[in-house]
Amino acid sequence: MNWFPIFINLQDARCLVVGGGAVALRKTRQLLAFGACVSVVAPQLHDELAELLHDGRVVHAGRAFESDMLANCALAIAATGDSTVNRKVSETARALRVPVNVVDDPSLCDFITPAIVQRDPIVVAVSSRGAAPVIAREIKSWIEAQLPRSLGVLADVAGSFRVRVKTRIASPLARRRFWERVLGNAVANSGSGESADDFRRMIEAALHSSAAPQSRGMVHLVGAGPGDAELLTLKALRLLQRADVVLHDDLVSGDVLELVRPEAERIPVGKRCGKHKMAQADINALMVTLASQGKRVIRLKGGDPLIFGRCGEEMEALADAGIPFEVVPGITAASGCAVDAAIPLTHRDYAHSCVFINGHRNTGDTDIRWPAYSTAGQTLVVYMGLNHLASISHALRLRGWPKFTAAALIANGTRPDRQVLVGTLADLPETVKRRQPVAPALLIVGDVVNLHYKLISPQDGANEPPGVRDAASEQIWQIA
Ligand code: SAH
Repeated sequence: MNWFPIFINLQDARCLVVGGGAVALRKTRQLLAFGACVSVVAPQLHDELAELLHDGRVVHAGRAFESDMLANCALAIAATGDSTVNRKVSETARALRVPVNVVDDPSLCDFITPAIVQRDPIVVAVSSRGAAPVIAREIKSWIEAQLPRSLGVLADVAGSFRVRVKTRIASPLARRRFWERVLGNAVANSGSGESADDFRRMIEAALHSSAAPQSRGMVHLVGAGPGDAELLTLKALRLLQRADVVLHDDLVSGDVLELVRPEAERIPVGKRCGKHKMAQADINALMVTLASQGKRVIRLKGGDPLIFGRCGEEMEALADAGIPFEVVPGITAASGCAVDAAIPLTHRDYAHSCVFINGHRNTGDTDIRWPAYSTAGQTLVVYMGLNHLASISHALRLRGWPKFTAAALIANGTRPDRQVLVGTLADLPETVKRRQPVAPALLIVGDVVNLHYKLISPQDGANEPPGVRDAASEQIWQIA
């Protein structure tokens, strides 16, 4: 079978849906969304389908299907789950030349309905010719994630400028170039929040500039999350696939980097364990230079850019240079690692606050004002503390944290090689020394850590690299 994709206008057209269940409901909703009037034929109606009758554009025939119901119909859909009835609808419709669709039976169909992604007036339709609708739906989800929410607004605004642009730029080739430049840039850089006015201003500016409008560079400061690529935001994914150049930290996982557009230039600018690959000032200068060349620059940072990511300094540098930028949040290590170790950071019975601390500090010392943190009902999350674990534990105990306060160290959180070590302030430094977990690692301290033993599922425990079970028995031994 060969299917030719077309879009048909159903505004105010009468369509017949035979069937009264969940599938008929879905089909009726889709038809209504495109302006059709729907006659539903079924002895009984799904509750939500019955509710649609109030809409005024749905009528119900509570009897068996008959051929005269197809009179003046633009199309018919059979969704009864009864193959005899479905076949009858198909044969009758075909005899009367009314295009028909029988759900899940391409052999009885004149047309099939694709999976669609809508950014009105943009519509993307995906079909497997009925062979594997699940694949079509998967593709639809990918596309859904890729297309900015504001795409429809942009398309409408562009449409409203067509005549003016045609008058102003006579040559069809120059006109196409103009639209490619203006819209290409807008599609690549738009997020979800742009309004019609924003787009209008942008096109006006491009039209009025006497020189050919320059595509303007921009920097997105994007959170890559703690490692698992599935934890990226939709926006981060979309931007990664459109980037011209990506400046990334060492913390960004290989799985996330694989999602960068293959043609994009990748520049590692990371620093690990004191070995600086590029000074912060040089990173700032490089971002400014690349964006000034009109490039779409992604500054990709581990976790969330605004949490211990020095993103603030980068934003200042971009603002000073007049380069437009946007920050895209990411999942911070605390959120990812807490899930790995089954530690609810603010369980209401054990914690009323949760504090994120830099265990390293810019200067490389550990002179942190620990006394500011009380012990009762407080969860501490210490970033960059792996190499100072013993002194952190010591400092906390000096400030009154009991030595049996539960503490966990999660290394390589959310990644396949993650390691969870659980113990107490007293014994965790020793366990860590013995097991030698590899950075990056995060320390969580407080009563909520005890919930780990209750909440870690046996399945997770089985999947965990050796360490967590041993650490648990160390804890039991300590208490005994
Ligand atoms: N902006 C990042 C933090 C950067 S500071 C965020 O929001 O997560 C770097 C520190 O983050 C590391 O020293 C470590 O403490 C922590 N970290 C980052 N990724 C981690 C991971 N996958 N597992 C454990 N800790 C991690």
